[in-house]
Amino acid sequence: MILRRIVPQLLLTAALLFAQKQKTVKPGFNMFSLEQDVQLGKESAVQIEREMQIVNEPRLSALINRIGNKLVAANAADERNAQFPFTFKVVNNPSINAFALPGGPMFIQTGLIAAADNEAQIAGVMGHEMAHVILRHGTNQASKANLLQLPAAIAGGLFDRGGIMGTLAQLGIGLGTNSVLMKFSRNAESDADLLGARLLHTAGYNPVELARFFEKLEAESGKGNAVTNFFASHPNPGNRVKSIQEDMKFYPRVNYESTNPTADFNAAKAVARSMPKPSARPQQGTVAAPPSNGGRQPDTQARQGFKVQRTPLYAIALPDDWQSQLAQDQVSLTLAAADGLIKGANGQNDVAHGVLISINKVQSQNLDAETQALLKGLVQGNSGVRQTGNPERLQVNGAAALLTAFEGQSGMRQGEKEIIRVLTVMHPQGLFNAVFVAPDSRWRVAEPEYQEMIRSLRF
Ligand SMILES: [Zn+2]
Repeated sequence: MILRRIVPQLLLTAALLFAQKQKTVKPGFNMFSLEQDVQLGKESAVQIEREMQIVNEPRLSALINRIGNKLVAANAADERNAQFPFTFKVVNNPSINAFALPGGPMFIQTGLIAAADNEAQIAGVMGHEMAHVILRHGTNQASKANLLQLPAAIAGGLFDRGGIMGTLAQLGIGLGTNSVLMKFSRNAESDADLLGARLLHTAGYNPVELARFFEKLEAESGKGNAVTNFFASHPNPGNRVKSIQEDMKFYPRVNYESTNPTADFNAAKAVARSMPKPSARPQQGTVAAPPSNGGRQPDTQARQGFKVQRTPLYAIALPDDWQSQLAQDQVSLTLAAADGLIKGANGQNDVAHGVLISINKVQSQNLDAETQALLKGLVQGNSGVRQTGNPERLQVNGAAALLTAFEGQSGMRQGEKEIIRVLTVMHPQGLFNAVFVAPDSRWRVAEPEYQEMIRSLRF
């Protein structure tokens, strides 16, 4: 009978030993060099800074840089960690988000500063973002996603010639909301929480605030607030507070900085809250004729190889060699590749490789419901067109948007499949919709162009 008593005890001891080991957190498989992470981040930052409104306000910059520098020093204190040239900038955007690019550029949105209860919570998000960079999650994802093409691109010196961003765009890895560079797995999330917590600890901030802030955001996002964004790219791994508290058992005991809001923090938060909105938001429940807005046209900038088409209600970039035609109503716009227009069965012009843009009248401001109604009409009005995926959520012009995938028959060549993506987003005049079309054989080229067009869209 002695045996029966001993066995459970042994098991218990093993379980304790197991629980007492601190989880190691290290970068995964990666085909990029550290220098390429840095280069990619630099190229991407140029694009981000062109598209987003960077805030140069001394109280905001001072706070973000002070926190950032403490975290950089904390990272430097651990020689196992990769060191990168981190930079910290504030973006004028009321949604609660922050993001970091490979190799170090980090952007913190004003909405996040406005939502934090104390400095340690901002440090928590920044530490978490910094951990993604140190653990190289972006290029790890890109490496996994393009196992076939990437080695050839690296070996062929493509990165040196055309810039990493351009090369990745050709491989279908863009910088959009759904880019693999910015969208992390739940494992990556819990690793970023742990490394982030360790950085916070070394920097003197209470690591629990990291988890607390994420849980607060999680609670908010259920109410359909401005946080959905953050969880789209950082899925909640669950039990954040508990995992961080488990990890903290291995930290030397120290007194953390008080979590009472400091004067600097309060000042920065007040500035963040009073920032003017970066762009006009949809008005509730009104659908009117195109307004007279003093002749002001929406503004957007074109990346190299693209030109801008402005209309009274929106602006969009399109490839340099494309043609565009604005309808008489000054709203509907047809964009087509040089050979993208074909003669349809009834003699009309059909778009086989191009984009059809329109703004439809709506019953409500409910994006999901209005999109469903529009898509239903699209399928009914076009025989042979079928939906191939659930709508994907993204941000366009600072607002929630949906991108839905369809397939049909290409008019360009007999028997060829046509790939279709329908973008929908609320515009003050109704439901803005853009139908992107290309034959299957051209999709690899067309998709990154369409991503760029979506990114360039301004109301
Ligand atoms: Zn994350």
